[in-house]
Amino acid sequence: MDRRRLGHSGIEVSRLCYGTLSFCAAQADLSPEQGGDLLLYAQSLGVDFFDTAEIYETYPHIRYVLRHGAARPVVCTKTYAWDRAGAAASVDRARREMDLDVIDLFLLHEQETTLTLHGHREAFAYLLECRDKGILRAVGISTHAVEPVRALTEAVAGRTDGYWAGLDAGPYRYADVLHPLLNVAGIGLLDGSAEDMAKAVREAHDAGIGVFGMKMLGGGNLLPRFDEAVAFALGMDCTDAYAVGMQSRDEIDMNVALFEGRPIPEELLLRTRSRKRRLLVEDWCTGCGACVARCASGGIRIVDGRAQPVPDRCLLCGYCAAVCRDFAIKVV
Ligand code: SF4
Ligand code: SF4
Repeated sequence: MDRRRLGHSGIEVSRLCYGTLSFCAAQADLSPEQGGDLLLYAQSLGVDFFDTAEIYETYPHIRYVLRHGAARPVVCTKTYAWDRAGAAASVDRARREMDLDVIDLFLLHEQETTLTLHGHREAFAYLLECRDKGILRAVGISTHAVEPVRALTEAVAGRTDGYWAGLDAGPYRYADVLHPLLNVAGIGLLDGSAEDMAKAVREAHDAGIGVFGMKMLGGGNLLPRFDEAVAFALGMDCTDAYAVGMQSRDEIDMNVALFEGRPIPEELLLRTRSRKRRLLVEDWCTGCGACVARCASGGIRIVDGRAQPVPDRCLLCGYCAAVCRDFAIKVV
């Protein structure tokens, strides 16, 4: 497994990052033991970079690996906190629930624009303080949009005349890591095109920011263009790693082979690619619209008083399921 350093943070990771969103209740709904065993299996094949987030509810799965694994993986988590108190609560919770004194990467989750970054600067400043104290090793943002990538790059370069004109770039000058949505067709992007994002990511990487991408298959929408989508993602040399959600040993075997440039046995390819996922809305949906408000990708809408997925926009992230008080949404 190829290994890279995440920009100026110097943190070394496997190029394949295990995205644990796939374990959450809205997706495979795996117990800490089931998910933890998959993580341990991936680790035995050289994958030692695990991605989680406060809302994924997969801290127990990571803790399982920390207790049973032979080696300490690199762990990334994320928070939606916007102020100091919220960020402090998130850092405390992550350390407590994963039983980790030091967390490798801590990101502000789903930043949408420069204004969003500006509004979250107090939380980011707190993460920087934690980094300076040695509680965190690197800090950054995740995003589905091009603008925050450009804004972060400008901040790190000390530029205040572009996206940051009239706003406070202060803490973001010291950002280490970026986790952007990046796929060949730009599926799921909130602004710009795939080419815009690729260019912005390259500039971020050249500025010394560590980059690990996500959604290389656009939440499954790019399965019909599988070879092209994988070639694009793995060909992006400015992307140090890619987070991929996996729910079985077959999926791990396939992705490890892909990332190592080995041919994939036809049988394995058939087993993994034939499993098409979709967003399921149950009959008892009340049409309250909370899921529509939560989705930044336009992946769900209300039709005739009931939520209805928009398959070519839905990334199957399951974020909308977390806000459905009636438990009417699931990725199946
Ligand atoms: S949040 Fe749940 S109940 Fe409300 S519209 Fe969406 S699926 Fe239906
Ligand atoms: S509809 Fe739900 S699962 Fe699909 S992209 Fe939006 S939040 Fe994610």
